[in-house]
Amino acid sequence: MGGLTAALAVHKQGMTPHVFEQSTDIKEVGAGLQIGPNGSHVLRALDVLDSVAARAFRPQAAEMRFGPTGQQIFCFPLGAEIEARHGAPYLHIHRADLHQELAATLERRVPGALHLGASVAGFEQERTGTRLILKDGTTVAGDVLIGADGIHSKVREGLFGPAKPRFTGNTAWRATVPAARVRENLIPPNATVWAGPHGHVVTYYLRGGELINIVGVREAREWQDESWTTPGNKQDLLDDFAPWCAEIQELLRAVNADTCFKWALHDREPMENWSSGRVSLLGDACHPTLPFLAQGAAMAIEDAYVLARSLAQCVEAPEQGLQAYQAARMERTAKVQLGSRANSRFFHKSGVLSQGLTYGPVWLAGKFAPGFIASQLDWLYGEDVTRKA
Ligand SMILES: Cc1cc2nc3c(=O)[nH]c(=O)nc-3n(C[C@H](O)[C@H](O)[C@H](O)COP(=O)(O)OP(=O)(O)OC[C@H]3O[C@@H](n4cnc5c(N)ncnc54)[C@H](O)[C@@H]3O)c2cc1C
Repeated sequence: MGGLTAALAVHKQGMTPHVFEQSTDIKEVGAGLQIGPNGSHVLRALDVLDSVAARAFRPQAAEMRFGPTGQQIFCFPLGAEIEARHGAPYLHIHRADLHQELAATLERRVPGALHLGASVAGFEQERTGTRLILKDGTTVAGDVLIGADGIHSKVREGLFGPAKPRFTGNTAWRATVPAARVRENLIPPNATVWAGPHGHVVTYYLRGGELINIVGVREAREWQDESWTTPGNKQDLLDDFAPWCAEIQELLRAVNADTCFKWALHDREPMENWSSGRVSLLGDACHPTLPFLAQGAAMAIEDAYVLARSLAQCVEAPEQGLQAYQAARMERTAKVQLGSRANSRFFHKSGVLSQGLTYGPVWLAGKFAPGFIASQLDWLYGEDVTRKA
């Protein structure tokens, strides 16, 4: 997501991008993404919002429910209201659809810019340029190199040395269910967090309502498996959320056993530096973000726009452009990283007392001052990086 968006953004600023992707085709796990108005602003500025929105679902509201009973804790409107509030829509999109849309647009605008099956092994840099080294031994010269290569970033390792990300004590289940396979209105047309003891479930619709996306997060002491993603066992999924309400049980029973995946959730502390000379990082490569604010991809999309603008403003001195880019992005991305981490504590209350003390005041606030909860997220959704100088 970050690399493709950055390619579209630098092209819009008059530069020529090349994207080197290790996968041999554009494919993604069957899972969804929430893109808030802050991400939609960038997609609009890059002239891809309409085609992305045509493949997405527009949720009516964001809500939190108490998972074991299904009782609503708070709810605030998304849909037309959030679009009016922040000037861009809130979308739920299948990751594969977003990837395909970005890749097809790049291929149309810059034919040959996307190099698939190109695995990066390392890089070198000189005063006037960079040299990318691929696993097959090919080298590629460029003016600037951006590592948008995710949490295991090779470019990050090349810049700052090896450093393992931290296992956060959470694993995530991911699955999709065709909406036709469950009762109509079983799941609300919202972004719904079903919070509960030591875990939570997130549900929302994709593809105009055809598919229901499920993320189920569960606390775990350790991640035994060497792989970070493993096909999950459906019975384990059902067991993990056995205390959850009848709606969630019914939904999980409808999951196809071959299409549920288990994911270890890792993150890092916010970094103090992302760039060296003509090489920098973007997205999860420099700020891997837990999914509990649903903003990791949106941060990569925002990064892409700011990066391209910063480079365009310093064409003669790209090193300075990269410094300006990271200076513009660090504070916000660190706030989102740390805010996402804090949300896991908010979502996973186990004792009755701590549930009452945490969710009671939020329920009251939602009941008597409904605008208050939405306003708490204005700093996140209200940002429009395309309007800043
Ligand atoms: C369960 C879950 C739910 C989430 N939900 C949301 C959500 O609702 N909203 C949201 O905004 N975010 C969400 N996120 C976060 C989001 O998925 C990530 O923040 C986002 O994917 C980061 O994008 P990226 O482009 O930086 O990195 P990635 O998506 O990780 O992409 C990195 C790319 O680099 C390629 N690559 C890696 N190494 C190499 C190499 N050596 N050579 C060549 N290519 C390489 C990879 O193949 C990949 O295509 C969620 C994450 C999880 C785990």
